[in-house]
Amino acid sequence: MPSPALQERVRGEDSVSAQRVEEFFMAILLENATVVTLSPSKPILEAQQILIDGETIAQMGRKIHARGVPIAKRIDCSHMIVMPGLVNAHCHLTEILQKSFRDNARMEIWRSYRTTTEDLAKLTEDEIGTAAELACSEMLKSGVTAVVDHFSTRPGLTVKKMEAILGAFEKTGIRGMLVPSLRDQDSIRLAMQRTNRKNMAVQTSPEPWKDEVLTVLAHLRRRRTQSGIMLGPSSPMNCSDGLLREVVKVAEQYDLGIHTHLLETRLQAWTAQKLYGRTICAHLDEIGFLSPRVSGAHSIWLDERDIDLMASAGASAVHNPASNLKLGSGIAPVAKLKSRGVNVALGTDGGDTSDSYSIFEQMRLAAYLSRVVDENPNNWIQAPDALRMGTVNGAQAIPAWRGKIGVIRPGYSADLILLKPTLRLRPLRDIVHQLVFCEGGQSVHTVLVAGEVVVDDGRLTRVDENSLIRRVEPISRKMHRIYSRIKKIPDRSQKMTHQLYKKALAAKGLPVRLLS
Ligand SMILES: [Zn+2]
Repeated sequence: MPSPALQERVRGEDSVSAQRVEEFFMAILLENATVVTLSPSKPILEAQQILIDGETIAQMGRKIHARGVPIAKRIDCSHMIVMPGLVNAHCHLTEILQKSFRDNARMEIWRSYRTTTEDLAKLTEDEIGTAAELACSEMLKSGVTAVVDHFSTRPGLTVKKMEAILGAFEKTGIRGMLVPSLRDQDSIRLAMQRTNRKNMAVQTSPEPWKDEVLTVLAHLRRRRTQSGIMLGPSSPMNCSDGLLREVVKVAEQYDLGIHTHLLETRLQAWTAQKLYGRTICAHLDEIGFLSPRVSGAHSIWLDERDIDLMASAGASAVHNPASNLKLGSGIAPVAKLKSRGVNVALGTDGGDTSDSYSIFEQMRLAAYLSRVVDENPNNWIQAPDALRMGTVNGAQAIPAWRGKIGVIRPGYSADLILLKPTLRLRPLRDIVHQLVFCEGGQSVHTVLVAGEVVVDDGRLTRVDENSLIRRVEPISRKMHRIYSRIKKIPDRSQKMTHQLYKKALAAKGLPVRLLS
């Protein structure tokens, strides 16, 4: 039976129907399940029963004893694969509105187009919520049950905009982590101005973010929802040391995780050397920023010492292979990070830079890309590694999710996906290999988040998909019209970026992360 606190939360949710509340307080029994365990010794267990009581996996085994537990729903999992829900540990939900707008643009130029388009579009809270709802829906249907949204929107962060994202989490039923993006300086402009560290400290702005973020945190803690909040410096170099220190202080005070972009491009690695006279990781280590609370998206341009600093601090890296390939950013040293003990999770980045929110896609790309950077097959990312990166490693990267999701085990939250193998998985011989190398999400049949069925027979249970598409298309069309106009206007900042890239590409002493 769910705890009294949980019962109170469910009863308080207006959107939950009386029938759903009734079902919620009774158990779900999965029968005849083929279960993906992620354990090296027994990766697959056959003919399992899984008892889900409220939000939690209560029992699992060949024959369990559910005496006294009223079973509301039995799901026959014969011919289905049951695996932990996938975790998208870095993405930007609202970028779905600019899906595939651009092709051959470096990250810095792509970002300038994206933000200018957002500036002019002036999205309302309702439009932000609709975009997030679409991205969450796409994810749930492809088996992603938990998502980290590194949320930035132009112009400026407000409580209402953050609530719009949280509203989309609750509406779709996904487990969501809102990470508002914070910044108070522009590293590219600073690099151009040859500004030194002393001057940078002066540029610290007061903290308009803090009241807003703490207001949302207070709302969340009152509601006792599945959703959470973390602190998200946009990238360390776009934040003054004062802001980064404040982030650490607030994270410790309120026990929050910290998420940031970290060394996504060669230009960033070069800029860090120029601004700090050392790598950004060495700088972060000195100011006490690195810790097990921190996850760094991309983590491509780390040098050997940076990797050791990440490992000794217990920080996680989040690999975003599709986005890195599309933007030509470089290839993260995933096998090396893993061998030094850094936890590596997976993310899709925004819908514009990777064009989908599929973690199945990222698992396959992570395995393939590791073969380009190392000639020794023993060092390649293999299917079981990739599967862990897409599930339990994602949970490990986020403090609030550690030991709670990512594996199928009694006591863990029932965040599960049931796959009914389609032709993509046929013939089916090795489940773990084929989930990574063959599956694309087409086989996802049923999805549970915290014990609730949110996708049933391939259909969303909480969202009217057709109505959602009708609502989102005009918003994206408006943005595309804006983008079509601005891309024709000459942009001087692009010339500046190209000049800086020339210097960064010619600079000696940076790690090699691009094919030459
Ligand atoms: Zn990103």
